[in-house]
Amino acid sequence: MALEDLAANQTSGLVCAHHHLYSALARGMPAPPRTPTSFRDILELVWWRLDRALDLEMLEWSAKLGALEAIESGTTAIVDHHESPNAIEGSLDVIANACAEVGVRVNCSYGVTDRHGKKGAQRGLEENERYLASGGTGMVGVHAAFTCEPDTLLAASELAQNHGVGVHIHVAEGPEDLQASGRLRELSRDDWLLVHGVHLEDDHGLSGYIVHNPRSNMNNSVGYAAPHRLGLPIVLGTDGIGAAMLEEFRIAYARLREHDVTATPELPWSWLETGYRITPEAADDRVTWLDEPIDPWRLAFHTNMKPQSVEIDGEVVYNQGAPTRVDATEIRNKAAEQAQRLFAKLENMA
Ligand SMILES: [Zn+2]
Repeated sequence: MALEDLAANQTSGLVCAHHHLYSALARGMPAPPRTPTSFRDILELVWWRLDRALDLEMLEWSAKLGALEAIESGTTAIVDHHESPNAIEGSLDVIANACAEVGVRVNCSYGVTDRHGKKGAQRGLEENERYLASGGTGMVGVHAAFTCEPDTLLAASELAQNHGVGVHIHVAEGPEDLQASGRLRELSRDDWLLVHGVHLEDDHGLSGYIVHNPRSNMNNSVGYAAPHRLGLPIVLGTDGIGAAMLEEFRIAYARLREHDVTATPELPWSWLETGYRITPEAADDRVTWLDEPIDPWRLAFHTNMKPQSVEIDGEVVYNQGAPTRVDATEIRNKAAEQAQRLFAKLENMA
């Protein structure tokens, strides 16, 4: 961000380049039927059960809570990746409307997959198409190469090109997806978001941005991406663990430094800034912070940096600890009610 143009306690709005707003209700969810022992287990026992349990009402309040938490952290733009296989149609509108109500920018995509059969993949493609054709800001989502047949990957790629947008896809997050580079090499383009890339070869041959999600990678025990080895522009995401991007920057720095003691905070700070190539509008948003100066070397060790106010598209949407458009207490209470509904459904699920 062009810090020289700003006051000492200001930045542009921060960008979360990979989020799952549907996961905001998942905190405190019931334990899975057995302890996951691999990344595949974590997907099957936690996230693929959660996404099957979601309905549009749960999604609405999950997205509002996630959007609220974003502006409370100075994040003004979210690039979301969504899946709710039992509530696909209209789901991207629910997320977009929830974010609009809170006042945060969002780029939506539905994660297409063959996990639920050909019909499931088709419905996912149709939701992306419906949303983009209606003028929604978004991309075409794909879950990951390893859960898609070649014709599904091709269809998603063509749909994205038809709408002049990129594909937002998890790539080589775990060893299950080692074939990703070979399967995507002929399809990927400069506007694709390649999320994770932990197990990508150095000479992967893909085009696009690498979205680095350091805390999620640690939490899933999939290994360190060392994203700067991959030769592509890098942006930072949370993979659904909130949208506090200064915190993700600090974690990115700590994990990088563990890997290389000569690394400096300027490198992960540049990853935050590259987010403006994906959502340029956020560069004009303004966050006024409660402490100064804004400096990567200070922020790498500052665990208590909070916004005083957040301005998005010229409008103050957060001021003195409260959102200006919505009632934070109401959102938290409604989200807690929906979380209880979700947990009850999960308890009764196979
Ligand atoms: Zn993800």
